[in-house]
Amino acid sequence: ACTLALSAVTATTATATVSAAAKKPLSTKAVKIALLMPETASSPRWEAQDRPDFIAAVKQLDPNAQVLYSNAFGSQTTEQQQAESALTNGAKVLVVTPVDGVGAARIVQEAAKAGVPVISYDRLILNCNLPYYVSFDNVQVGRLQGQYIAQHTKPGGTVVMLDGAPTDNNAKLFAQGAHEVLDPLFKSGKLIKGYEQYTPNWDPANGLTEMEQALTKLHNKVDAVLAANDNLAGAAAQALAAQHIKGIPITGQDATDAGLNRIYFQGTQSMTVYKAIKLEAQAAAELAVALATGQKPPAGLVNGKVNNGKMNVPSVLLKPVVVTKSNIDQTVIKDGFTTWAKIKNPG
Ligand code: BGC
Repeated sequence: ACTLALSAVTATTATATVSAAAKKPLSTKAVKIALLMPETASSPRWEAQDRPDFIAAVKQLDPNAQVLYSNAFGSQTTEQQQAESALTNGAKVLVVTPVDGVGAARIVQEAAKAGVPVISYDRLILNCNLPYYVSFDNVQVGRLQGQYIAQHTKPGGTVVMLDGAPTDNNAKLFAQGAHEVLDPLFKSGKLIKGYEQYTPNWDPANGLTEMEQALTKLHNKVDAVLAANDNLAGAAAQALAAQHIKGIPITGQDATDAGLNRIYFQGTQSMTVYKAIKLEAQAAAELAVALATGQKPPAGLVNGKVNNGKMNVPSVLLKPVVVTKSNIDQTVIKDGFTTWAKIKNPG
């Protein structure tokens, strides 16, 4: 059984409703639900957490349900083909994390023609009639990163920003939240924006190149790095180490074991943003099973609306949490998100 009273989301209305809804009696009809993940290089989460968490949540809700899993490995064309084969194979609902938020609208349209609803998972699919969206407050993720930089960078310091994939609506929201905090400081001269780039595919290899470019451009005068996720933070840390630059604030996101290892043991990353993926997967599973079995979504699960350029999409939005060296035990360990053994040996 899932323990859903995780500390990360105690402040959201979704917490209580997710755990309450999990006890609802469910249909025993065998249904197929497709889960389409975007890639592997950008973050370990999609394969290591979202996938098993979603499958476990679906099985718990409806033991007869079958999850059709695929991963697009960073190609929207592949994801499109995977969506089409899921429809051919009789999927009743598609849960999709788009590679490209604009391009994936075609998946939603084709699914709609087949009478199959799409749940946009973690990343928003833009400019289409989208039934549901399940994610975190992604602008808040960027604000938390921006606030950390604002509070820990020396006055007049130069900040490098690595923003993540330009094709991912989340990357735009993270940057939006970060800029909300940092732009007034850039304007007043309290901090200097030295370099900012989106990182194609969130690929850490691209992030490494960008960080090297930033160091060259700034003649190594870098005082903070706002990296949009842990894999990019790792790339930044590698480029900084090569130039023997130590002890500057570096942000991240995803609370990966490698990121937590850098935070706690190596001191080469300062913070990460923890998102309780188990709850996100649980919420998506609740919606997916309800839609696939012709039931209404559990009352109270949907707690907001997000505009995708075409409509206000009914959404489940969860709360992100800052993790630093000092609160690892009270957050990711307490929630069972990871273990000290894994943080010690991230593999
Ligand atoms: C997710 C992050 C992840 C990134 C790269 C974003 O859409 O919200 O958790 O690090 O994609 O995969």
